[in-house]
Amino acid sequence: MKQNLTRKILASHLAKPSDMVFGEEIFLKVDQTLTHDINAVMTYLAFEAIGLDRTQVETSVSYLDHNLLYLDYKTPDDHIYLQSVAKKYGVYVSRPGNGIMHAVHVARFGVPGKLSMGGDSHTPHGGAIGMLCIGAGGMDIATAMTGVPMRLKMPQVIRVNLTGTLRPGCSAKDVILEMLRRISVKGGLGKVYEYVGPGAEALEVDDRVTIANMGAEMGATSSIFPADKQVRKYLKAQGREEDYIELLPDENCEYDGEMEVNLSELEPLAACPHQPDRVTAIREIEKKPVQQVMIGSCTNGNYKDIARAALVFKGHHVHEDVSCTCAISTKQIYKQLLHDGYIDVLLDAGVRLLELACGPCTSIGQSPATEAISVRTTNRNFRGRGGNPNASVYLVSPESAAATAIAGVLTTAEEIMGQEVSVLGTVEAPERYPVDDSMIIRPLSPEEASKVEVVRGPDIAPLPVPDAPMKHLKCRVSLKAGDNVTTDDITPASAEFSSMRSNIPLMSRYCYYRYDPDFAVRARAMGKSIIIGGENYGQGSSREHAAITPMYLGVKAVIAKGIARIHKGNLVNHGVVPLLFENPADYDEIDQMDELEIEHFPEQLRSKEVVVKNVTKGTVFKTVLDVTDSEQEAVLCGGQLRYLKHQLKQETA
Ligand code: SF4
Repeated sequence: MKQNLTRKILASHLAKPSDMVFGEEIFLKVDQTLTHDINAVMTYLAFEAIGLDRTQVETSVSYLDHNLLYLDYKTPDDHIYLQSVAKKYGVYVSRPGNGIMHAVHVARFGVPGKLSMGGDSHTPHGGAIGMLCIGAGGMDIATAMTGVPMRLKMPQVIRVNLTGTLRPGCSAKDVILEMLRRISVKGGLGKVYEYVGPGAEALEVDDRVTIANMGAEMGATSSIFPADKQVRKYLKAQGREEDYIELLPDENCEYDGEMEVNLSELEPLAACPHQPDRVTAIREIEKKPVQQVMIGSCTNGNYKDIARAALVFKGHHVHEDVSCTCAISTKQIYKQLLHDGYIDVLLDAGVRLLELACGPCTSIGQSPATEAISVRTTNRNFRGRGGNPNASVYLVSPESAAATAIAGVLTTAEEIMGQEVSVLGTVEAPERYPVDDSMIIRPLSPEEASKVEVVRGPDIAPLPVPDAPMKHLKCRVSLKAGDNVTTDDITPASAEFSSMRSNIPLMSRYCYYRYDPDFAVRARAMGKSIIIGGENYGQGSSREHAAITPMYLGVKAVIAKGIARIHKGNLVNHGVVPLLFENPADYDEIDQMDELEIEHFPEQLRSKEVVVKNVTKGTVFKTVLDVTDSEQEAVLCGGQLRYLKHQLKQETA
């Protein structure tokens, strides 16, 4: 049978036979796992608690890349723990300064046809080289590291036919912003986007990563490009041509859906505050003063991104009212840009070079001013994501960001460069990168590893383990949230908060801190409670703290109109029951502080249909447990850790 690329990779990783019918649960052998420093402590604590002595996947990598501001003892405590636990369990470490996880991973570890699972929602970045890469919660990564197959609801595979050619001044960011404009932040749920056609063939890996990375903003399971001559060129430039295999969809294979984007018709776009899908042409946006421009991040910190931005800056200077920073994604890209003279151009233009780290993208430094406009090449612009909930963040391409930094208002490269803009279309990725893996610590042999002592500073608090669902749940609604609540809303990002993520008792005090400052105190006082959510609850980052901290505060269930895929998995993993309204209109009939009652809770969960009584209003409504069968088992056990231990005990009995 002729197969598309996604089905080929899924079929070659099936751990149990399956016809791979849309919506069915499939089990997949994972080849690679990746984690990052501000979420990973929970992952490795869980792996330690499971009790195996070594990661069971081919390659596990721990990236120390998000928070490199050692403001106090917490982050260095975390990094030392992560380095020691990696040594103990056979995990690679990419040291601080080597670069941002997704960019380093695709460059140094990515292999076409492999399946990777990352504790970060932008893991699909690696789809640029024909890998299938899926973002998940930290507990899922710990599970994969035990060799237990990953569970996934079989996605639909959508063919995206790219035709035409990008005009100079437009780039891959405009392609993915156009996708977001059409598909929205939840339209990609349960789908893998497979990019093909002449427009895709012409895009280099540097361009493809931006598109694959930001598929996460559509809620997609993943995004992927074929492994073709562009991938061969990229791997050759990385000194890894031997890792290349050609991997294409079969001719005339079937897809579950199809769409076309004509690249020739695109113009420079921007995602307006405060959602990545509020996309408009830059020329249509009112020209207001911009206070901050940030170029770089995993999404747009590649060689071609920064080189094109530098070409826009050539002969110009950053506007005196603008603070313009640049976070290049890896050390090797930085060195190549330095070699080719682009770093000089940036410095001469007044651009401030930041560390090779996530930093401002995840609100760690470089907050915009109050009521200010920040223009960024990053992938998210949720309220507060830039570090200031009162600022407005626009997302654009690197060339539009550079033009904006010069003009001081949202501007396109063409407006700055005129006909000279055509030079941007001539930038190509290097034939050879200055490869240097000295910042990657390789795993120890099992014998050496057995002697390693894991170092636990005072920031490393034990992992809380939830209980199984109560037989009879009667409690109040501690929060009624609206639509599109993000994991940033639940667990705020910033240097201060990010460094608390290894310490759940401390972090839980700030649960919903910006969304509802009284929530943590109210929920704790209730002892047990339920959260009511709107559409797309828990969208955004994969951080499982958005499930763990409510659980720690006594939240037993979330009942919502819709729950984002990764967040739903995190709720399951951490013992919070994710329920969906059978009739979304029932949402309107519930108020915060209403008392709800669920009788025979475990029995009802077994049927996946749960009747809830609103004691305060005297009404009854129906909900569904929309999870796979094995997730249902985890829900009934009280979370993934208990479930996994139970499974491993059965296997060894
Ligand atoms: Fe880092 Fe931002 Fe990329 Fe996440 S999206 S990996 S925080 S640069």
